[in-house]
Amino acid sequence: MSFQLSPEQEQLKAGARAFAEEHLRDLAAAVRAEPDPLTRAMLARPVFEKAVGHGFLKGLVPAAVGGAAGSGVDAAIFIEEWATQSPDFTISFAGPLIALTPVYEAGTPEQVQRFVAPFLADEGAPLAAMAFSEPGGSANFDAEAPGTGTTTTATPDGDDYVVDGTKAWASHLSGWDGDGPDLMTIVVRAPGGVSLLVAEREHLAGHLEVEEHYDLPGLRGCLTSRVRLHEVRIPKANLLGEEGQGVALTRNAFVPSGASIGIFAVAAMRGAFELAHRFALTETRGGAEPIIAHQAVSDVLADAKGRIEATRLLTWRALDAVMAQHPSALELGLHAKVFGSETAVEVIQRLVQVVGVTAYDRHYPIYEYLDEALAYPLIEGSNIGVRRRQLQTLLRTPGWDPLAASGMA
Ligand SMILES: Cc1cc2nc3c(=O)[nH]c(=O)nc-3n(C[C@H](O)[C@H](O)[C@H](O)COP(=O)(O)OP(=O)(O)OC[C@H]3O[C@@H](n4cnc5c(N)ncnc54)[C@H](O)[C@@H]3O)c2cc1C
Repeated sequence: MSFQLSPEQEQLKAGARAFAEEHLRDLAAAVRAEPDPLTRAMLARPVFEKAVGHGFLKGLVPAAVGGAAGSGVDAAIFIEEWATQSPDFTISFAGPLIALTPVYEAGTPEQVQRFVAPFLADEGAPLAAMAFSEPGGSANFDAEAPGTGTTTTATPDGDDYVVDGTKAWASHLSGWDGDGPDLMTIVVRAPGGVSLLVAEREHLAGHLEVEEHYDLPGLRGCLTSRVRLHEVRIPKANLLGEEGQGVALTRNAFVPSGASIGIFAVAAMRGAFELAHRFALTETRGGAEPIIAHQAVSDVLADAKGRIEATRLLTWRALDAVMAQHPSALELGLHAKVFGSETAVEVIQRLVQVVGVTAYDRHYPIYEYLDEALAYPLIEGSNIGVRRRQLQTLLRTPGWDPLAASGMA
């Protein structure tokens, strides 16, 4: 086992970095300047089409079903390079990562082929959304009465289910034009319990009403909305697995994306570190020498660098386990999510203090990284409401071995 990047991974890094520097940097600047959430999300479409043309969308789909996804470390390298320039574009582009995961797990061969097909395209801007979260809460989506749990209902009617409810937060619930994405995996309450249904675009058009586009404090290019689904007719042939399988499928759907938050955290820390380090090397702030000569300043930078490296390695390990479907994937993925996201907030908050008051001006870009990082403990299942509870369940599992995940048992 080596941690050296292979020649292919060096090439992947260079390709992802070149695309990000050529297209995502300017997009991020344009998004920053645009106040309206819908307008700024639409700025991404031409870049989205370019990324599809370069084959990056296929790179999110496993090779076993016709895509070109590589290893977990490959995924980490790619995400870090893109997210360093624009995490919001990266999150928006990666919709299929969550929405298609339950299709791979529980779909019939016919369903897999049909649902994956739009995302193997070489052109266009196909969108997939995982419609899980609801405005009234989703941490307890599996709760039964007296809780409400998932409130979106699927009522059987002949060969179809009729879906009614309100979904929120997922990227691109509204699609590019308000008529929905190309594919929407919907968490519903069916007669047999929480279940997953896949809606295709023709089922959604005319039955989806956008109630609000959220105006996010960070990740501002992500189009997250609250949408009402009314009388969406979805063929029973689009049920994934059996009725009642939805709780497990939903939890599993967020394992890869949860682990990837560790790398989004690295990208934010990397950007903030670069700014604070340069500031410390070049600014004297009226003193006789650059502020890095002060031990206190240097200590913050050194500690930050160590924590960035630790988060990157943990997340490489987690994503490697996820892609290899290793039994430790859930545990390592949860640590990458929780440790990575909270480390990023702490590290960037300290790096801001290295820069001092100059940082407290929007023209100096370090605060953007803090705005981004503040999202990571909340999204992909909040650390308090979802992720630490999953860790608690693991810790309480009879026979759980603290050395197993590392392979050191
Ligand atoms: C940019 C962005 C992209 C997103 N993408 C998606 C997506 O693709 N699909 C999707 O469905 N959602 C998406 N979301 C929503 C996101 O995944 C949230 O993490 C998810 O909705 C869960 O939020 P929550 O855990 O805060 O739940 P809530 O139910 O709103 O809980 C709120 C808080 O209550 C407390 N709490 C609730 N229940 C418990 C409990 N049992 N134990 C302890 N504490 C509890 C916790 O403090 C928790 O943080 C996105 C959000 C953003 C901003």
